[in-house]
Amino acid sequence: MLLSHIPSYFKARRDKLMADNPGGIFILPGAVDMYRNGDQSYPLRQDSNLYYLTGYVETDAWLVLAPAAASSPQGKGGYRTVLFVQHRDLDKEMWNGERYGTDRAMKIFGADEAHVIDELDKKLPELFAGAEKVFYRLGTTERGESNDRRVLAAMHAHRRSLGRTGKPVLPVFDPNGPLGEMRLFKTPEEVELIRTACRITAAGHKHVMENIRPGMNEGDIQTMIEHEFRRGGASCPSFGTIAAGGKNAACLHYMSNNEPLRDGELVLVDAGAEYAQYSGDITRTFPVGRKFSPAQARIYDVVLKAQKAGVAACKPGVTITGVHKRVSEVMIEGLLSLGLLSGDVQEIFTNNTHKRFFPHNTSHWMGLDVHDAGLYLNNDGSSRTLEPGMLFSVEPGFYVQPGDTEASAEYQGIGIRIEDDVLITRDGCENLTTLVPKERAEIEALRSK
Ligand code: ZN
Ligand code: MG
Repeated sequence: MLLSHIPSYFKARRDKLMADNPGGIFILPGAVDMYRNGDQSYPLRQDSNLYYLTGYVETDAWLVLAPAAASSPQGKGGYRTVLFVQHRDLDKEMWNGERYGTDRAMKIFGADEAHVIDELDKKLPELFAGAEKVFYRLGTTERGESNDRRVLAAMHAHRRSLGRTGKPVLPVFDPNGPLGEMRLFKTPEEVELIRTACRITAAGHKHVMENIRPGMNEGDIQTMIEHEFRRGGASCPSFGTIAAGGKNAACLHYMSNNEPLRDGELVLVDAGAEYAQYSGDITRTFPVGRKFSPAQARIYDVVLKAQKAGVAACKPGVTITGVHKRVSEVMIEGLLSLGLLSGDVQEIFTNNTHKRFFPHNTSHWMGLDVHDAGLYLNNDGSSRTLEPGMLFSVEPGFYVQPGDTEASAEYQGIGIRIEDDVLITRDGCENLTTLVPKERAEIEALRSK
């Protein structure tokens, strides 16, 4: 179904981007259909930058934000929003659904100009007029290569049109620089959408925690949780669902999801709902049966303590690396007390000895991409300081590889991760995913119903 109204915040974002980057031309190709096999494509997901600036979701679109000529309606110092879109084609639309076309790209999406995508190569060189720098992401994907060629050809044509003026070649910058910085700070509208994505995600996890029984398959978790996501209003999962029973949980990106769930083992579920293009991302680990075994409980308590210490550390002024350090220290203390590590906490942290059991970082930014845009480090290499509006995961994990015979047998093959999504507020943080239990007693109570 086509939308007939697009919120004004998309235009406000374009205004800010162009005001912050005077003289820049932004060239942003959208997502195109990718073939899975034969003539069957993967579900289309719009490029997050193009979506962030327009709300436009169709395949085969390019967005160009170009400096305006002094004689144009936008005037000197202004900019033009130019959308290239699929042309209307009633025959194709009968097969694949209605298209917006150029008229509605202007009326609904507020483009100053809209052209059919076939005119891109002809029109693009003209749009460089008045530009002093180019924002285009060069050299990204295989598919990006043909985009690169089109942009470079347009830059070449533009340069030739200048004649012998001695003007310098336009420098090219990555648009993810300024756009990543904007996307890192969530506006109240974005927070509401992410709040919904998190609520749907949490409800799905809780449903799985209540209904999974020994003898079911990991695939049952995937279908059950993704069904709840859709039922809750999500358009799709925000990444590939991980439903890992027993030792499969020790594989960080396990996605086969096709083995039986056995009583006595744990199951790790890492899944998120995508709502209005925004991601939720939660991990819970719970017993396939009713209770944690004593060994599982000991490890679970260490991971939970580290995770809660991480959430408690999230506030303005702390660095994102500082949160990870705090989580790692609590984790290391726990592993020392269980005899899985030996030595001094700080020494272990500095030497990364704990990475044998906790090999990943604690956090990733969240937003339109589940691993969202934005720099984790400042230009001088120091860690980013947390500020209100930043939104990210807190997800320590503990894994003993099944073949790690140096660890005591009762711990081998255990994988436990606990993940919540937090928003930095003025004086601390708000945990957006508290709806799904993580206290061991609460989980056991739910599993025993
Ligand atoms: Zn995550
Ligand atoms: Mg996750």
